[in-house]
Amino acid sequence: METIYLDHAATTPVAPEVIEAMLPYFTEHFGNPNGIYSVSRRAKQALEESRQRVAEFFHCKVTEVVFTGGGSESDNMAIKGVALAQQGKGRHLITTQIEHHAVLHACQALGKQGYEVTYLPVDATGLVTPEQVREAIRDDTILVSVMYANNEVGTVEPIAEIGAVCREEGVLFHTDAVQAVGQVDCQVEALNVDLLSCSAHKLYGPKGVGATYVRRGTKLLPLIDGGGQERNRRSGTENVAGIVGMATALDLAEQHQAAGETVRIQQLRDRLIEGIGERVPQVRLNGHPTKRLPNNVNFCIQYIEGEGVLLGLDMSGICASSGSACTSGSLDPSHVLLAMGIPHERAHGSLRLSLGVHSTEAQVDTVLEVLPKVVERLRQLSPLYDPKTQTATKLAEAFRQRAESGEFEHAGDHDHDLEDAEG
Ligand SMILES: *Cc1c(COP(=O)(O)O)cnc(C)c1O
Repeated sequence: METIYLDHAATTPVAPEVIEAMLPYFTEHFGNPNGIYSVSRRAKQALEESRQRVAEFFHCKVTEVVFTGGGSESDNMAIKGVALAQQGKGRHLITTQIEHHAVLHACQALGKQGYEVTYLPVDATGLVTPEQVREAIRDDTILVSVMYANNEVGTVEPIAEIGAVCREEGVLFHTDAVQAVGQVDCQVEALNVDLLSCSAHKLYGPKGVGATYVRRGTKLLPLIDGGGQERNRRSGTENVAGIVGMATALDLAEQHQAAGETVRIQQLRDRLIEGIGERVPQVRLNGHPTKRLPNNVNFCIQYIEGEGVLLGLDMSGICASSGSACTSGSLDPSHVLLAMGIPHERAHGSLRLSLGVHSTEAQVDTVLEVLPKVVERLRQLSPLYDPKTQTATKLAEAFRQRAESGEFEHAGDHDHDLEDAEG
């Protein structure tokens, strides 16, 4: 059975070209780039050439690229780094309710350290507006952080416009562009950003390596102190092979975009969205209909649990996700769907399919054949669904009312307590 991998928003396979480019830096060019002998000089040269290629990708200066240990670290670096460096100016930050946990939890950690954070709500499609940001900015605001594209529902935020507002107001602006890089334009000047996070493993590069764009003159305190690498902004012997891999992955992304790959993937996305809408009754597309990542499909499938759908799809070799990968396994519905105003009981039944460069029309058609059967089977078993009327049963109705009264939110809090207790 062929594996149909449709979880590219969680991670991607490393491209063969990337592996090939990385290999020499594990073997003959293994040197520490900070040494002065020739093995080291080769590593140093690869490091600086990679930095040049990354800078070209983002249209920034080489001195503005800081290599990190991935997207989560880049997010933490930007948020905590700015907060710590600028606390003399103020202790207020603005972000949104739908950020990745790397941003949300970094902000919550600051919240416990005496910072104040405004979590902006989003509309039903997941959009936040520049006006909302403008209204939330105060005299003591030091940073605004809004993700470029959401990892669950694919909504693409108006980053350039929000950045323009921040410039006008004299507030630093960070964007988590982990999902956007390689899929939508990421030239930092046009985006009006001061900081941007990127991760290699979401674009056919290796895991555990990322980069932060830090605009010239932006003060931030390092999270990791040590030997002073990365111009004192991130210490630690550089992950040379990983960095070479990331630079190669960005080159490939550029080539793919130039070759029309994004358009091809978007057509597959639309085929999936239309097909699911036609073949599966009682589903609703999550996210924005047009301002959305070319590879993202996210549906709420009523009356069933997302986990059940995933297991059903897995039996046919289809890899998909429900909510975000980091939180699946917990019973909490997605914070993104809840922020978009989707009721608790429906947020449990969400399905995310995220396409990639290896996705084909035949794979999409297999999904369109398998998914309706999986959903139908689960609904036959679901006490929440009446197959005769194709609507909710009385039990489902009672459930909905209990959810509306906030009963399950309480249950969710309890789960968190347990998780914390288990460490
Ligand atoms: C995956 C992801 C991250 C985390 O990146 P890692 O490299 O896995 O740490 C952060 N933000 C978004 C939007 C992501 O999709």
